[in-house]
Amino acid sequence: MNKESENERQGATSAVPQVRQNESGTLAPDAYPARTRPTPRARVQSMKEYHPPLGSRDSLRLDFNENTVACSPKVREVLGAISARSLTRYPEREPVEAFIAAHFGLAPAKVALTNGIDEAIHVLFGAFLEAGDELLLPVPTYTMYEVYASATDAQVVTVPAADDLKFPFERLLAAVTPRTKIIAIANPNSPSGSAATRSQLIEIAARAPHAVLLVDEAYFHFHGETVMDLIGAVPNLFVARTFSKVYGLAGLRLGLLAGPVELMHWVKRVLSPYSVNALALACVPPALEDAAYIDWYVGEVLAARAEFEAALDQAGIRRWPSEANFVLTEIGAQHKEFTRHMSAAGVLVRDRSSDPGCDGRVRITIGTREQMRRAAAALNLVLAALHMKGGAL
Ligand code: PMP
Repeated sequence: MNKESENERQGATSAVPQVRQNESGTLAPDAYPARTRPTPRARVQSMKEYHPPLGSRDSLRLDFNENTVACSPKVREVLGAISARSLTRYPEREPVEAFIAAHFGLAPAKVALTNGIDEAIHVLFGAFLEAGDELLLPVPTYTMYEVYASATDAQVVTVPAADDLKFPFERLLAAVTPRTKIIAIANPNSPSGSAATRSQLIEIAARAPHAVLLVDEAYFHFHGETVMDLIGAVPNLFVARTFSKVYGLAGLRLGLLAGPVELMHWVKRVLSPYSVNALALACVPPALEDAAYIDWYVGEVLAARAEFEAALDQAGIRRWPSEANFVLTEIGAQHKEFTRHMSAAGVLVRDRSSDPGCDGRVRITIGTREQMRRAAAALNLVLAALHMKGGAL
């Protein structure tokens, strides 16, 4: 260290409040006044805590839009064959990224495997959002967009859906400004289940060429429409996919981000090379290759959704049309009691009342037909117990 920086260092040290240790090397509580503690950014301090109810979920899980059965037996086989020795090594992601890129007909430089879509959102926001930028979100939508935006200095601009909860296309376009840096669209969206059309997404990307358009296709398989084929052709488009829903691997935490090489390059700079574990990597090929399993599960959910929607209609419960493996219902003032009673009846559902414009609304994941018949029976009993037959109170 040269003399100048040594002086600077000493100067800086003397300006810092010092706290004395006692003889045992610990600090007496009053020796450490509050003002000396490190403070997080104001933005983080003002955030609401987000604690999704992930505990004690042994009942029928219709609360987190997961696969309600299991992953493909071919994936189980691969998981069972993983040796202790192979786990001693750090995971190598490149061969698996090359595999998944080929699966989607993309160059490997256009894809990144991530620790769930959540990590994809985190790194994309971290790479692009800075002070003065705007993140544009149609709401209600997936909670974690706002959580990760709070880890940046960008401003969140929300575009509320109307009461029909359809994708607010015109209003979203009108909200684009020169400061818009990312537009995040879950397609289909949660908790509404509504979707934007391909031409709407293309138009949004074209009207905001200075911004990243993230299309989050977590529920793609239940909808069947994608813009993955436009990666590279639309220069500001990113698409995210997950293994947490139809593939039945939410516990492994595995996602995919695809985008144009020029922009993906920056994302890869801030992405940890270690964040996707070896078990998750091993599951990618069998999960993608077992198309028969995915077709079976999707077919089961779509049939169950139609039956369950009919049961809701018969019970007089308002619902919104859904392109995904869940249905949003209008339960009304008794949403808390309803959720509690359903849980007591062995069916977990998710109260979305705190989402913008969703007071009194409860989201119900769709599982298999057999599971949804049980859910419909529980629902009818709970509605009767709450004297709600024939509609929300
Ligand atoms: N995007 C959307 C729209 C979601 O609803 C969810 C999960 N609820 C996720 C992403 C999270 O995906 P992952 O488990 O891959 O992080």
